[in-house]
Parts: sequence; structure tokens; C-alpha cells
Amino acid sequence: MAVPFLMNPAGAATSDPAHPAPSPKDVHIYPFKLGDFKITVISDGIRASDKPEETFGTNQKPEAVADLLKANFLPTNRYVNGFSPVLIDTGTDVVLFDTGMGEGGRANGMGKLLDGLALAGYTPDRVTLVVLTHLHGDHIGGLMEAGKPTFPTARYLTGQIEYDFWTDPARVGTPAEGNHKQVLTKVVPLKNKFAFIGNGAEVVPGIVAMLAAGHTPGHMVFHVASGGKKVVLTADTANHYVLSLQRPDWEVRFDMDKAMAAETRRKIFDAIALERVPFIGYHMPFPSIGYAEKSGEGYRFVPVTYQFEAE
Ligand SMILES: [Zn+2]
Repeated sequence: MAVPFLMNPAGAATSDPAHPAPSPKDVHIYPFKLGDFKITVISDGIRASDKPEETFGTNQKPEAVADLLKANFLPTNRYVNGFSPVLIDTGTDVVLFDTGMGEGGRANGMGKLLDGLALAGYTPDRVTLVVLTHLHGDHIGGLMEAGKPTFPTARYLTGQIEYDFWTDPARVGTPAEGNHKQVLTKVVPLKNKFAFIGNGAEVVPGIVAMLAAGHTPGHMVFHVASGGKKVVLTADTANHYVLSLQRPDWEVRFDMDKAMAAETRRKIFDAIALERVPFIGYHMPFPSIGYAEKSGEGYRFVPVTYQFEAE
């Protein structure tokens, strides 16, 4: 029997009236050229949370966190976090960095990667390589749809240290158990299509991985270069454009090794500030791309405006 269905902007059928597909105005992409590469930042969605001081600056007085937020014209009682996978079309490969929340986020307005991909003109089977910067739930959630691989023809790549950590049964009975279980259902079924890499590995020509541990044990950032232009994908090295960048030493709840995460933040953003190269941060405010200027005890986030237009 034919069941009526709606078409969402991605052209994918949805039959769940309780969770209609997002309208095109809710789907946000930021396409730009970097040398010969076509890069598209895709918003998977945003999430608002209460009590920023319980996630950022957890080793500080709550008033210090509130003061910094106020000084930056931000509310002190809530914060909004975005999730921004990045698609890089090199002309030879179509490489997707991280996969968002996937089907598990849709009831809350996230999991919009596929709609963004469609708006950018790509079907999931065009993705040749999926790179996971690390294996937290908001990065691996979109790997599977209804128990099947979302990107049917893709190969996959992540850090060897990261994969070994999250698949180790030693995680059972620790705070990492929940994420370990997600890795078992979302990542491990694709194991045979994975390559596991280390520091300095080339992903495809023009894209090099660097270990940036602290947020997770095998968290990686990626240096992208084409035609003399560069951008760095910093993933979760800094997770709030004010609280993590202006105060890189403040502890963050989601950083597993807090001292190492702070050290890594300084190392990576010192280099980005010194070189004056743009970076894309997975949790920076959409379009999640900007510059870091050294300022005071940390960095000032300078969001992109028209630097990549009419290139
Ligand atoms: Zn994340």
C-alpha cells in the first residue's frame, strides 16, 4: 500500500509528521573556495544549554565566568552550541569531516547534515572519505541511518589512538562507558572500511592530520592547503568562541585530560594566530570559520566576513 510522504529539501522521504523535515530556511551552509578545493561548512544544528559555568571554566568561580560572558555581550545563564561538519571537495575526493548528531538529534532540531549536503549539491554516495576528528557522539552520530551506513560508498579514517581508546572494554564501568557503547554501534560495524592514522599522516593530497590530544586521547586537527591558501580544521580544540579562546587555560567539562587540552589549545592557537591563517572550529558560531588574534591571556575570535567572497 502506498503511504503518503513528504519530500524534504534533501529529497529524502519522511513519513513522520511529528518531526517534519526542516524547511530550507533552517538549513545553513557556507561554501567557499580555497585554492582548487571547494569547501562547504554545513550546520548540523544548534543546541541551547543552561549554566555555562558548569561546562566552561569549571575550575573558576562562577562569577568569573559570568563576568567574562557579560563583557562579551553574552547571557550568563545559557549558551548555544553549534555543530559544523565540513565537506572538502578536492576535485578527486569528496571528504567529509565529522557527521553531526544524525537521526538521534532530529527530534531536537539537529541531525541536519544530509539536508545541508543536498543544499550544497551532494548526494551521500558522492562522499568518498569520512574523517572523524574524534569519536564523541556529536561527531559520529550521523554515520548510520536506520542501521545502515549513511555514506554507502565511503571509506573512513580516524586516529589509531582514538579508536583503540573507545573500543577498549576497559571503558565499561567508567564515565566513558556511554560513549564507548555509541562507538560500538556507530563505528565498529564499519571497521573493515576504516584506515587508522597517526600524527602527520596525509589524508588526501593537501590535507594532513595532527594529533591534538586532551579533549580526547586521540583527538586530531587537520591542516588543509591548496593553491597557496590554508585553513586549519581545529575540531574540538576550543569549544566556545569566548570562554575557551579568551581563557584557554580554563577547564572544560568535556576535555578528558584538562591540563593536556589546555596545553594543546595554546599550541594550536598560538600557531594559528602567528600565521594569521583561518580556522574552522566544529563548535564555533556558524559559519564556524574565523581567525584568532592573540589578546590578553588568550585569543580573540574574529569571525569571517567577506574574506572568501569573489575569490
Ligand atoms: Zn564535539
